[in-house]
Amino acid sequence: MTDDIAHHYRQIIGQLGEDPDREGLRDTPQRAAKAMQFLNAGYHQSLEGIVNGAVFESQTDEMVLVKDIELYSMCEHHLLPFIGKCHVAYLPNGKVLGLSKFARIVDMYARRMQIQENLTRQIAEAVQQVTSARGVAVVVEARHLCMMMRGVEKQNSSMTSSVMLGDFRENQATRQEFLTLVS
Ligand SMILES: [Zn+2]
Repeated sequence: MTDDIAHHYRQIIGQLGEDPDREGLRDTPQRAAKAMQFLNAGYHQSLEGIVNGAVFESQTDEMVLVKDIELYSMCEHHLLPFIGKCHVAYLPNGKVLGLSKFARIVDMYARRMQIQENLTRQIAEAVQQVTSARGVAVVVEARHLCMMMRGVEKQNSSMTSSVMLGDFRENQATRQEFLTLVS
């Protein structure tokens, strides 16, 4: 598989006007293929495998918030990165999820070809599914290289997307509490 992808990268490098055989580029197809496979590793992971039983009984019913989770993904329109951070909150309903699992859930969906809106929703629904929470809120703030490096070159613009499920959707005060904590 890596060799197949490397073969195509070699062709792309040539078609872009470079010499794929010059010294600096000789191993580039192979390296690029491995990098791209790593950045798309999320296709070979499952929510169940990632959570791996790290859901624990708890009586807490206060909001749990995990802020500033680093996020690196790739836009499905240009195959260029978008980079930012993600905030995840939930209202436990008898169960809590191990802290490290939030970052792993974010990575699993981020390491795929994505648009930010879908990524945000997938993270929220995954947390909902695993915890059976009374509500889940996810905010993603990201800068898109496809916007910064090409075309309009709006270098300072970032995009914010959010998904609110359950109580965060239905209860204004709960939603406001969350938004105040992450702003
Ligand atoms: Zn794009």
